[in-house]
Amino acid sequence: MKAVVYPRPNDFQFTEVPDPVAGPGHVLLRVRATTICGTDLKIFAGQFPGTRFPHVAGHEWSGEVIALGDGVRSLRPGDRVGVEVHVGCGNCPRCQEGLYTLCEAYGDRSRGHAHIGFTVWGGLAQLCAVPARACHRLPDSLDFDEGAFTDSLGITLAAIERGRLRPGEGVAIIGPGAFGLLALQVARALGAAPIVLIGTRHERLQVGKQLGADAVINTREEAEPVGRVKSLFDGRGPDLTVEFAGAEEAAALAVQLPRRGGRAVLAGAKSPGRLLKADLATIVRGHLEVIGSLANPQAISRRGLDLMARGLVRVKPLITHHFPLEAFGQAWETFTSRTGGAFRVMLHP
Ligand SMILES: [Zn+2]
Ligand SMILES: [Zn+2]
Repeated sequence: MKAVVYPRPNDFQFTEVPDPVAGPGHVLLRVRATTICGTDLKIFAGQFPGTRFPHVAGHEWSGEVIALGDGVRSLRPGDRVGVEVHVGCGNCPRCQEGLYTLCEAYGDRSRGHAHIGFTVWGGLAQLCAVPARACHRLPDSLDFDEGAFTDSLGITLAAIERGRLRPGEGVAIIGPGAFGLLALQVARALGAAPIVLIGTRHERLQVGKQLGADAVINTREEAEPVGRVKSLFDGRGPDLTVEFAGAEEAAALAVQLPRRGGRAVLAGAKSPGRLLKADLATIVRGHLEVIGSLANPQAISRRGLDLMARGLVRVKPLITHHFPLEAFGQAWETFTSRTGGAFRVMLHP
């Protein structure tokens, strides 16, 4: 098969590699749509600790089942599926609770752990063999491009559920990237109101408005963003903030905004950093819950796909470009330099 192989950090080749084989419990998929995200920049640069080179990345993708390994009963050839990329060992205490992202055997293939596109080869290839547990059948109304958001939507759904959002509560979403815009739609589907989207990029905030944000705040244009956001929630602040911006300042803002007794979910800023601007009084006297959320537990993406199938979450407005897999270089350049207002670029093997 052909694949985009990273032979070493910061290098790629579109080249021929041996076809993967579906081992026990695995299925062989023909990849149909793969999108790349900010995390791919880290993987490409060799900054993701669990990645070994040569590597085939691609962790937001969908495909079609073409062969089954021994023991697979849940899928059939011809099934169209979206891939959930964290596959835990299934045996450690956290995996037994379904918390695959917290698996104690992270990175250990011999114990059955797979982080698809990170520690094992992913979807920037014509074919990919993955554990059957990673696959969610796509509802008939969804196409492969939409299916490529299976994992991302699971991540945002998990973050909102970590925040225990209740209908009628006010929410501030920080970071109008793909995750923030999915979180916004999930919050809306669950009955949140009002929903305020906060960011620094005008065009993305406008997309947020189209997708249902009641108000948008550009922190570059506000001298005092905390007060301004709180004013949109009767001066008290939102019940819940959800951070998907991936920056230290955004995490600090997420903790400064909630009303007294509110909740802040930090889901984007995973790199080392500190909540320097959040003093203890904000948290303790504010009676706040500050909640970390790491990716998606087992099978939550299934429900995300159902939300999408019912039209409650739309991902098409996030897709701006399509390329064949062999044009990976051009797709990468378009994505990283945001050529032509690029948001999500979709690759098709
Ligand atoms: Zn990603
Ligand atoms: Zn485990």
